[in-house]
Amino acid sequence: MRAVDLIEKKKQGNAHSAEELRFLIDGFTSGEIADYQMSAWAMAVCFNGMTAEETALLTQFMAESGDQVDLSALKNTVDKHSTGGVGDKTTLIVAPLVASLGGTVAKMSGRGLGHTGGTVDKLESIPGYRTALSMDEFLNLSQTHGMVVAGQSGDLAPADKKLYALRDVTATVASVPLIASSIMSKKIAAGAKSIVLDVKCGSGAFMKTAEDAAILAKAMVEIGTACGRNMAALITNMDLPLGSAIGNALEVEEAIAVLKGEGPEDLKEVCIALAAQMLSLCQGWRMEEAEEKVKDALQNGSAYAKFQEWIAAQGGDLKGFLQQRSVPCRSHCVLAKESGYITAMNAEKIGIAAMLLGAGRAKKEDVIDYSAGIRLLKKTGDAVQKGEPVAELFTASAEEFAKAEQCFLEGLTIGEQPPHLQPLILDRIGGKDE
Ligand code: URA
Repeated sequence: MRAVDLIEKKKQGNAHSAEELRFLIDGFTSGEIADYQMSAWAMAVCFNGMTAEETALLTQFMAESGDQVDLSALKNTVDKHSTGGVGDKTTLIVAPLVASLGGTVAKMSGRGLGHTGGTVDKLESIPGYRTALSMDEFLNLSQTHGMVVAGQSGDLAPADKKLYALRDVTATVASVPLIASSIMSKKIAAGAKSIVLDVKCGSGAFMKTAEDAAILAKAMVEIGTACGRNMAALITNMDLPLGSAIGNALEVEEAIAVLKGEGPEDLKEVCIALAAQMLSLCQGWRMEEAEEKVKDALQNGSAYAKFQEWIAAQGGDLKGFLQQRSVPCRSHCVLAKESGYITAMNAEKIGIAAMLLGAGRAKKEDVIDYSAGIRLLKKTGDAVQKGEPVAELFTASAEEFAKAEQCFLEGLTIGEQPPHLQPLILDRIGGKDE
């Protein structure tokens, strides 16, 4: 078999066999197939696509290209993946919520880059919390506490890592089969039997429309199902940030509020939907029953108790974190430039404003200021008066306020009429009750 013939085959719009895809992935991972050949093949996929069967096989072979986490000794294993958003702290809430109701959430999460945050960064704002765990520790914590959230340990889906780096510089990221197989190869290698996807759509998301988000979600659900996993996806609105807090420590604080039965309604709604869907898949509960139990766990303190147990088990000092939070850091209020209604809050612009304050990284090597970020005082649909505070900015370096404020204001639209508000949960794919 020769790589050049497979590039030609995809260029002609034909489907590969399993042997051909195995040859491509194995050859590329070992370095026998050159980057320029793999780039040409990825470009051919961008133009001609892949069948559902090809996409599932590509995913399986990329998942098998490195370490695979064996969670088979654990009961009710369930994972959740978000395609990335602004103010998305759902993992911090949903993981202990699901674990408090008997699911096992053994989760590897990532760091933030650009306008979106990462769960590992948020957790590292808690003094002492350890995200670097050995595989033995990772499995022991999952067994003992029903949950663990760590950075990636081991070499998961190295073929995807190499291919994604190549796609990033050859304009071949935007292809549904390539995105879906890339995300799912890491999820399949991470080992959970049930997987719930939170596919974000809107101004702060990779997928800008609900239609495109549904196409990606369907592709991922099909892949997971073909690989023997219980799958469901929610399409959720990311036209504006989720909740009111953006920035690492601010988001942990907001997650704690939700776990205590308080916190913003939009964040609560998405967390309840995700947690109920995860429990429905891993416990076999009907959605209605799962939702009831989830709401109870938020109200009766069991979800927050599991959160405290989890953070302590990974070395985190929650008391120290809460004491640090009571010491004020530099803040600055953004005032409305005119009176009216907030008709749009561009999530990407607001995410970039938070990054400029020090809450995120423009480049991988940048250092994060955990206390930096934004607290939204108003959201889309709210009425505002000229000169009224709409947001509070936080940073350790006050010289960042001006740039961040300008970026924030570029994302804010004030109009005369109240806007038509989109639902938060736009669609649900798979995992429905019979
Ligand atoms: N995230 C991934 O992991 N892969 C893609 O291809 C796009 C987003």
